[in-house]
Amino acid sequence: MEFTEVIRRPAYEQVAEQLREAILSGALEPGSELPPERELTDRFGVARTTVREALRALQAQGLAVADRPTSPLRVVRAQDLSTGPARDAFVHLLRLGAVPLRDLVELRCALEGAAVGAAAGRRGISLDAARAEVSLMREVGDDVEAFEEADVRFHVALVAASGNEALHLVMLAVREPVGAHLLASLRAIEDPLPVLKRLTREHARIVDAIEARAPEQAAERITAHIRGLYRRSLG
Ligand SMILES: [Zn+2]
Repeated sequence: MEFTEVIRRPAYEQVAEQLREAILSGALEPGSELPPERELTDRFGVARTTVREALRALQAQGLAVADRPTSPLRVVRAQDLSTGPARDAFVHLLRLGAVPLRDLVELRCALEGAAVGAAAGRRGISLDAARAEVSLMREVGDDVEAFEEADVRFHVALVAASGNEALHLVMLAVREPVGAHLLASLRAIEDPLPVLKRLTREHARIVDAIEARAPEQAAERITAHIRGLYRRSLG
């Protein structure tokens, strides 16, 4: 006969999970105030400290928000939900080595290839933001910090131009590890100027392909650009 071990979960986790479910299912309306602590204490039959701990957990996850430290907690609205926790989780996993650089490269190629392809197929999109970053890159000389910032903004702008909110969200979540890796690679180069010039030309050619409404060419150019960037560090 086989028995499974009884897993005792802390009460606050169980309270937090039920509240989380109520928020995500819409049973608690976005933007509405959460029930007061006293009421939650009664309904869950737990101590007040347990309810407080559960609420802190929801706040840490960004699902419950307070306008001011003393104001009552509200259910987060989708438009206020920060990508911070997702981004932080990704950065931590990457730094712990749980997401190998090779996988990040593949994610970028799939994500950005799809995004520029979609952008090239859309009517009436504005590539002004991406163009502005390319102009800026031409002016930064060999300032690798300024280049890196413009580069990351450029790639985010291209993904935003796809009009796909899901792609945009994932891009925002990976922008920090992407930027950190780029900066480290650029700093390791003795004479970065020729490399920065080449990368800037590649950026301009990606925008050209989107503007020419050539989805395949745009996708090809951005994946070549991304792979080229990481080839050295992947060995
Ligand atoms: Zn780039």
